[in-house]
Amino acid sequence: MPSPLEHPIESLPGIGPRTGAALRERGYQTVADLLWLMPKAYDDQRHPTPIHELQVGEYAVVEGKVRATRRFPRGSHMGFEARLEPDEAPNEGAGYRELKVVWFRAVPGLSQRFEVGGAVRVAGCVNEYRGVATIAHPEVLTEGAAGSIEPRYPEIPGVRRKTLRRAVRAAVHRVAHEVPDLIPEELRAEVGIGAIGEALASIHVPTPAVVEGHPGRSHPAQRRLALEELVLWELALRLRRARERGGTAQPFEPEPAVSKACAAFPFELTTAQRGAITALSSSLNRDEPMRRLLQGDVGCGKTAVALVACAQVVAGGAQATILAPTELLADQHAATLQPTAEKLGLRVGVFTGALSGDRRRAMLDRMATGAVDVIVGTHALLSGEIRFANLGLVVVDEQHRFGVAQRLRLGTRDSKRRPHLLVMTATPIPRSLALVLYAGLDLTTIDTKPPGRLPATTRMLPRKNRHKVLRQLDRALDADGRAYVVCPAISSSDELVGVDHAYAEMKEHFGAEVVGQIHGRLSGDERRMLMREFAEGALKVLVGTTVLEVGIDVPAANIIVVEQADRFGLAQLHQLRGRVGRAGQRSACLLTHTEPLLPDAEARLQALCESDDGFRLAETDLELRGPGHLFGYRQSGTSGLQFANLTRDGALLRRAGELANRMVRSDPSLSAPRHAIARAAVRRWERFEAVREDAG
Ligand code: ADP
Ligand code: MG
Repeated sequence: MPSPLEHPIESLPGIGPRTGAALRERGYQTVADLLWLMPKAYDDQRHPTPIHELQVGEYAVVEGKVRATRRFPRGSHMGFEARLEPDEAPNEGAGYRELKVVWFRAVPGLSQRFEVGGAVRVAGCVNEYRGVATIAHPEVLTEGAAGSIEPRYPEIPGVRRKTLRRAVRAAVHRVAHEVPDLIPEELRAEVGIGAIGEALASIHVPTPAVVEGHPGRSHPAQRRLALEELVLWELALRLRRARERGGTAQPFEPEPAVSKACAAFPFELTTAQRGAITALSSSLNRDEPMRRLLQGDVGCGKTAVALVACAQVVAGGAQATILAPTELLADQHAATLQPTAEKLGLRVGVFTGALSGDRRRAMLDRMATGAVDVIVGTHALLSGEIRFANLGLVVVDEQHRFGVAQRLRLGTRDSKRRPHLLVMTATPIPRSLALVLYAGLDLTTIDTKPPGRLPATTRMLPRKNRHKVLRQLDRALDADGRAYVVCPAISSSDELVGVDHAYAEMKEHFGAEVVGQIHGRLSGDERRMLMREFAEGALKVLVGTTVLEVGIDVPAANIIVVEQADRFGLAQLHQLRGRVGRAGQRSACLLTHTEPLLPDAEARLQALCESDDGFRLAETDLELRGPGHLFGYRQSGTSGLQFANLTRDGALLRRAGELANRMVRSDPSLSAPRHAIARAAVRRWERFEAVREDAG
C-alpha cells in the first residue's frame, strides 16, 4: 500500500483524467506534490467593496442587485452578461454606478443564479470596459455566507481555478499532517520551528493572521517553508556535487607561464586581477579538478585573467576552451585575445555554429590533433562530435543561468580525466547569493576596476524629449565617439519602441551611411560585419536589441541610449551601461522612459543614476524584486526559490547549510534509512527543478 501522500492526484475530488494530465505535465503527480503548489496571493472575500469604490486592477468581492441580463453570441458559443447595481444608491458623482459581470463562454445555470432583481455576490479582478467596471468570468459566491480567505494559485493551463483550490484543500485535509519532516525533531525544537505539515496547512488554509501579516514580513509558516526549501536546495547541490566528483585533472605548473602572460598585456594588471590570477594558478596546479567562479563588475577585466589561466594550461601541453553565450562575443573574444595570444605563442581558433563545410571540418581536426591551443566558441562546442586532443581547462564566460556549468560534460566523455572549470559571471551578485547559486564552486571576486575609469554619467528622461537625446548624441559623436541605441523590441508595436523606429530616427538625424542596426534576425556574418564597421568607425551609431547586452567591447563607444529603459531589469541596464567608456573616456548613459513611470521602474532607474557599483545594484535589485505580494514568493527564474529571500535570510541559509552538512557528512549519498525522507524530497525537488529549467 503506498502512503496516502503518494496517492495519485486523480484521487482528489474534482480531478479527472484531463485535469490530472494537465497537472502531471507540470510535475504534480501525487497528492503530496500538490501541497507544494504555493499560492501567489490571497483573495480576501470577507469584506465586500461597494461598487462606487471599485478600482481597476484590484481583486474585489462585490454584492449587488441584478438589474439586467443578456445572452450574446460569441464565436460558436453563447456568452452571458449581467449588470449589477448597488443595493443602496451610491453618493452622487463618486466612482462607478454599476458592475458588469461577463462570461464569454457561458456555463450552465447562470440565468438561474442571476435572476433580475435578485441579490448576488461575485468576486474577481476588476477591469474597465467602455467606462463600465467589469469582471470577466467572476467567481460566484454563496450569497450571504460568511466570506473566506481564498488562496490564489498560479494559473495552470487546463485546470480550473476552483477545481485546483478544492483539490489542494482536500490534499491538506487528507495528508498535510503526515508530511514527513526533513528536519529532525530535536533540531526543530532547538531552533524553535514548527512541523512542516502545520506550515503547509496554514499557507493553504490561511488564518486571518497569515494574510494580514505585513507582506514580506516573515510569518513563522513562511520561515519554516523557507528553511525546508534551503535545506533541500543545499542537499540537492551536495548530492549533485558528490555525483560529479571523482576523476582527476592534470596539474599545471604556474611558472614561468603565468609571469610571462602577465607581462604580455598592453596594460598593468590591477591588484585585484593579480589576486585572482594567484588563486586560479594554484588551483590549476592541483590534480583535483578546479571548479571556480570568477565574478566582478562589468569592465573589471575578467578576460585578461582567463587568458593567463589559458596560458598556464597550454604551457603544460594541454588545450583550453572559452565558451561565450553568443557568436558575436566568441568572435570578439578571439579578436581581442589574438594580439596578446600571439605574443605568447598561443594558437587561437574559433568554433561556432556559423562554421560549416570544410572550415568546420578543418577546425574539428585541429582541435582533435592539438594543432590549436585556445578554442573560443559557443554552445556548438558542447555537441557530441567534438574531440579535443587534450583539454585542460574550460572557461565559461558571461554565465547567465545556473545549470549550464553543471550540465557541462565537455571533454569528460572519453576519459576519467576532467578539465578544470572556470565560470565567469556576467552580473555581479551578492556573496550570499553566489554561494547558494553556485554552491560547489570556489568563489573569486575582482572588486576593483582598472584605474582611470570614469563612471558613465547616467540620466533618466521621458522618451518624448527627443531633442535632448539627439543633442547628447551629437555631442558624444563630436568627441569622436560611438553610440549605441538599445530598444526593447525589433519591431515597434503599440507598446514598444522597436529597432525599426529608432533606426529610422537615427538615419534621419545622422545620415544613413553612419547608422547600422543589429538584432537577432541578422545572420552571424551580417552581425560580424556590422560590429567591425562600428569598431573601426565607418558606422557611428548602432541601433539594436539586447544582443548588445553582454560583453561587447568597443573602446570608442562613449554613449548608450536605452529606449524605454523601464522595460529592462536593473542588472541588464547595468550591463548595457558597461558597454561605454571602456577606454577611460567620459561617457554617458541615457535612460528614456515611457510616462507615467511605475514606482518600481522609477526606483530601478533611480538606483542606476545614483550608483555605478554592480554589487550594490545587484542587492538593490534583489530588494526591489523582493517579496512580491505574498511573503517571499518570487517567480524570479534565477534561483527558483519560492520562500527564501537570499538577501535577508542569510542566517537561515547558514543554518540550512549546517543542517545539510550534518546529514551528508555521515551519509554522503543519503542512502541510509534515516534519510529516506530527505532522499525522496530531494528527488522531488530535482524533478521540479528540471521542469522549471526546461520551461526556461
Ligand atoms: P569584463 O570583466 O567585463 O569581461 P573585460 O575583460 O572585457 O571586462 O575588460 C574590459 C576592458 O578593460 C577591456 O578593454 C580590457 O582590455 C581592459 N582592461 C582589462 N584589464 C585592464 C587593466 N588592468 N588596465 C587597463 N585596462 C584593462
Ligand atoms: Mg567579459
